[in-house]
Formats: sequence, structure tokens, C-alpha cells
Amino acid sequence: MVFDIGGVLVDETRMWRGWAAELGVPFETLWAALREDIRRGLSHRATMQRLAPGRDIAALRRARLKADLPVAGDLYPDVRPALAGLAARGVRIGIAGNQPREAAAALAALGLGAAFIATSDAWGVQKPDPGFFARVQEACGAPAAAITYVGDRVDNDVLPALAAGMRAAFLPRGLWAGVGESPVPPLPDLLALL
Ligand SMILES: [Mg+2]
Repeated sequence: MVFDIGGVLVDETRMWRGWAAELGVPFETLWAALREDIRRGLSHRATMQRLAPGRDIAALRRARLKADLPVAGDLYPDVRPALAGLAARGVRIGIAGNQPREAAAALAALGLGAAFIATSDAWGVQKPDPGFFARVQEACGAPAAAITYVGDRVDNDVLPALAAGMRAAFLPRGLWAGVGESPVPPLPDLLALL
């Protein structure tokens, strides 16, 4: 069972609070703007640029990298018991998401018992690219049908995992919950992926 990171294992609220302070806007303003822009198909970067015109968002990202890395308090409260319960049943755990390379060591330090922890940065390929899911399968060393990918987005996680022949578990929570489901393909297309 392979887990996405942001919005599945890691609650990114602390990170976004840090960004709100950085940009000089209330957290609620940033959160609502990000969700609205997700609906409109815009990037987080575009949202932040709109809220803080003139700021160099890419440079801020680099400067904030360390502060944005996950710490123990960012784990959703159900993560440790869920992973321990799965491990007790003999389920092998992997962790892989669209993250900076440094996130892997930060997560490893939390002692989650994963057989592997991988990032899009280190792999050089991001979800929803099929290449990302090929790397997931390679890391698992198991047939695709034996792998379940757990993600918080339909477009980035569920659909490409199904397309790769894996099972998918949809766990919407965090920034994308309630807005990240679209675009969902029409039912016949979805069935073709199963
Ligand atoms: Mg995610």
C-alpha cells in the first residue's frame, strides 16, 4: 500500500499558515483563494502571486523549503495507528508523492516503518505522469494489481493509479478536499480504467 504525502499523511495546514504570514495575508484568505483557484484550474503559484504581487514566489519557495518540510506534529492523528495496523496485518507500506527531494529524509526521521519513501523530485517525474506510477511499481517490486495507491486527488492520484493497473483509495482531506475531485471523466471512461 503506497501513500501519497500531502493531504494524506501530512496535514499541510501549518505549512500554509507559514505561507500566509510570509505573504502578509490572513490564513483564511490564502486558504480560500487556493481552493477557489484549484476550482478554476490555476496553480498555487498563480494564487500566491495574485495575493502578493511583486514577490518572487520561486525564491520564497526556496527560502521556505526547510520550514515547509513535514515534522511529527504535521501527521494526521490517524496516520501512526493506521500504518501500524496495516504493518501488523503484513501489508508493506510505501510512501511516494509530488514533493521536494528533502521531504524523503524528513519523513524517514518520523519513523513510519515504510519500506521506501520517494519523491517526484528525486525520481524526476511528477504525478499524474504514468512514469511516476511505473516508479512506484518498481519500488514495490510487486505486480501493479497487488498495489493500492492512497491519494487525496482524483486527477493526480486515483485515475493515474487505476490506469497503471493498481487499486486506488481516495482519501480527500486537506486543501483539495471537496474541490480536487474534478475533472472526473465521464462514467464510461472511468469504467474503462478499472
Ligand atoms: Mg496529495
